[in-house]
Amino acid sequence: MKVLIIEDERDIAELISYNLKEAHFETRSCHNGREGLLEAQRYQPHLIVLDLMLPDMNGLEVCRQIKSHHKLKAIPILMLTAKGEETDRIVGLELGADDYVTKPFSPRELLLRIQAILRRSEAKPKAKEKEILEFGLLRLDEERFEASVEGKFIELTALEFKLLKYLLNNKGRVASREALLEKVWGHQAYLNTRTVDTHIKRLRAKLGPAGSYIETIRGMGYRMIERA
Ligand code: CA
Repeated sequence: MKVLIIEDERDIAELISYNLKEAHFETRSCHNGREGLLEAQRYQPHLIVLDLMLPDMNGLEVCRQIKSHHKLKAIPILMLTAKGEETDRIVGLELGADDYVTKPFSPRELLLRIQAILRRSEAKPKAKEKEILEFGLLRLDEERFEASVEGKFIELTALEFKLLKYLLNNKGRVASREALLEKVWGHQAYLNTRTVDTHIKRLRAKLGPAGSYIETIRGMGYRMIERA
């Protein structure tokens, strides 16, 4: 994880850098706003620590430019502010900064804030990734709850959709009937493993030419082939 520090007070920049490196971050420091903006484009950091009081331009202006730049706007910003800069903090948050820390701060507090911001921003792209699953002739759109084979939509029940998604997410691995019951159906005592067989059979038929992607592993369960 790369962190860009934009702070003109070199001892503070060094203190932050030192503590982040101890926590296994990679860092670069810039000591004015203009340099910071250029470095943000070159370095493509995962997060920017931005001091609001900079010699050449206001930190809020730096924040505004980052948040309106198409390649930089997704980078989270943690502002460093002095006591009494409450208006600036509010403006900064309105401009899209993620959080702020008031000077003087403890390195530990700063680190915790940074980790919290990164956890939040990491959660976003992951949620997006799982929207569409493609495999050979198959395409699954989770958001719209649509499945298609060779571009033709097929109608799946919620359960069949879930079953297919599970198999796709576990390509190449054998899933036992018991495991499928647990993961797809959830624990429901009245079900037995034959339920799984019935559903797989129906699912294969609906998938047509992609039905052969689901293999039966005798005596064990089912497996989505590794490569279509
Ligand atoms: Ca400063």
